Amino acid sequence: MSESGVKDYGADVFYGDVIGKYLTKTVAGKLTATMREGKPLDPSIADAVAEGMKNWALENGATHFTHWFQPLTGGTAEKHDAFLEPDGPARAVNRFSGKNLIGGEADASSFPSGGLRSTFEARGYTAWDPTSPAFIKRHANGATLCIPTAFCAYTGAALDMKTPLLRSLQVLSRSTERLMNKFGRPKAHVSATLGAEQEYFLIDKKFYLKRPDLLQTGRTVFGAAPAKHQQLDDHYFGAIRPRILNFMTEVEQRLWRLGIPAKTRHNEVAPAQFELAPMFEDMNLAVDHNMLVMEVLRQCADANGLVCLLHEKPFEGVNGSGKHCNWSLSYGERNLLSPGDNPRDNAIFLTVLLAVIRAVDLHSDMLRMTTAGAGNDHRLGANEAPPAIISIFLGDELSEVMREIEVGKSGSKKGRTTMKIGVDTMPPLPKDTTDRNRTSPFAFTGNKFEFRAPGSSQNCASSCMVLNTIVAESIDAICDKLDVAGGDFNTELHKLLQRLIKKHKRILFSGDGYAPQWPDEAKKRGLANLADTLEAISPLKDQSNLSLFSSYGVLSEGEMVSRYEIAAESYVRRIMIEGRVALDIARAMIRPVVADEFTRLATAIGQAKKDGLKVGITGLKALSLKLGAGLDDLHVKCERLEKSLLKEEPREVISDMESLRRTVDRLERLVDDTKWPLPKYREMLFVY
Ligand code: ADP
Ligand code: MG
Repeated sequence: MSESGVKDYGADVFYGDVIGKYLTKTVAGKLTATMREGKPLDPSIADAVAEGMKNWALENGATHFTHWFQPLTGGTAEKHDAFLEPDGPARAVNRFSGKNLIGGEADASSFPSGGLRSTFEARGYTAWDPTSPAFIKRHANGATLCIPTAFCAYTGAALDMKTPLLRSLQVLSRSTERLMNKFGRPKAHVSATLGAEQEYFLIDKKFYLKRPDLLQTGRTVFGAAPAKHQQLDDHYFGAIRPRILNFMTEVEQRLWRLGIPAKTRHNEVAPAQFELAPMFEDMNLAVDHNMLVMEVLRQCADANGLVCLLHEKPFEGVNGSGKHCNWSLSYGERNLLSPGDNPRDNAIFLTVLLAVIRAVDLHSDMLRMTTAGAGNDHRLGANEAPPAIISIFLGDELSEVMREIEVGKSGSKKGRTTMKIGVDTMPPLPKDTTDRNRTSPFAFTGNKFEFRAPGSSQNCASSCMVLNTIVAESIDAICDKLDVAGGDFNTELHKLLQRLIKKHKRILFSGDGYAPQWPDEAKKRGLANLADTLEAISPLKDQSNLSLFSSYGVLSEGEMVSRYEIAAESYVRRIMIEGRVALDIARAMIRPVVADEFTRLATAIGQAKKDGLKVGITGLKALSLKLGAGLDDLHVKCERLEKSLLKEEPREVISDMESLRRTVDRLERLVDDTKWPLPKYREMLFVY
């Protein structure tokens, strides 16, 4: 039993030994080269690959296949076709051809395209991405073969998250090779890596079903704070309850079968909040895997009578959920963000580090853009979440190294002489320094950068795509400078890095990102603070960004503007849905209860007076006054929200929803507990 995880690891993935078993040696060799190196697939083997894949899938109980893709809805999409085809009036065979494998046409008129495609050319095309292996999704009485694909319009314009990610990986690969060539390194495979830590909440399904807000928006639009929530920090890393552990084990077993390296599990800070962290992988695969992680979390929760909430802020007043994207870059076997133990490796490390610093400083607006969304707006800058201002945390040791390089003379307190690029070795940098700064949105953590701003429900493809592209551009800029510099390589590099530090050090910040002074200081430094989604997505229309991403061929200007349109529209729709849900709950669930309670009190007061009671009337009156005022308030705030909903003005709707919430949450504390129509925070967060 204890070996079952290892034995079944990857059992539902068409990769490795399985390929060898179902394909001839030549076909397997060609397919593996395509998968590993991203080489275009030799079309002559497509039919053979499809046949092998079909046989494997059938033996594993699959009846259908689907192209699996990531449209701009933020989720995944699939349309199943049976292998089965009639072959005579009462006979059928299973068929799956190379054509079925490589490409698909779908009526895609209802996927968001942001104006890239009009309905008269509604077809969308899916194209196989052989760098992410096919896999099998199982359900109780069957299974489906899933083929990861890119999704684009007739014109080739990307309508998904994967296409620009793949393009950005190529761009980064090219510039990294160029840089490594300057350092005299032999050609090697470049891979960007991603480890996506996933936070989530679990609540009992019986509560969920009674909360229209959770059902429709993924978050609670009402709910008074319970006396105890996370103040005692007693949930974080606490003993995991058996029911949750059963759920987690089921999740892991399913993920391991899918070849997804789920490694770490623990209780998070907020009550009922948890985290799953995988081992890092090649970025494209890691992105696909994170999409599957979210799906498996939801399904296993459901099977265990629980609901998995992936919203960034399901509960007000306690921590929200993020998706920390751990990003790094490797060349052959070497992680370029790992400080080396010889001068040459250090020079490479520092160059790549400064390329990232320059990239983030120049394009922090685009990074911030990738974290925009109605859900994440509640999180960025709130409890335990990094602020909306993008800055970089390097840690003490590395900050000191930067200073030494910058000043060019010995300024070290620690008795070291000044760093000379390409000559000195780095001081040892402890991988997990104690001063890990959880308030930084973008932190260097020993051998990788951890981008903490993305939200728990978001597809990390977008953040990765931007990071890859802006780092590629920085590496190219560095290479361009080195191209024209005539003198000794190490001296020129040293001077260049010095200049880069001087120019971009404003983005480095080791202080407390939650401190109230930080926004002011950031402003003085000229750092952007794009506070909400509508501001945060505007960089998608900025001319310098349009030029950068289109010149690199990652996103054309049309594709970028369409992404802006989609993000803006989806944001407004989400807010309108939240507003309507809040209004419905307030009017049809809360108001009747409060009105009943008030009427009951009023009658009781009248009766008490009639009976000439000497006690109790004061208490009844005080309560009825509060309830009556609450009832009036509720009425006014509902009317106001209704008006702003008609205007479809998101910021107004948010503010009116917020104000209605204050009234409802006050009433929650006044009304008879047995009559309150919604499950309360103290139940949802603690009873599971
Ligand atoms: P911590 O961030 O707490 O120090 P780890 O070092 O284990 O924890 O890393 C957290 C996440 O970062 C994991 O998903 C891990 O796989 C990932 N990670 C580690 N090294 C790299 C790397 N070189 N590239 C990308 N992700 C990485
Ligand atoms: Mg965490």
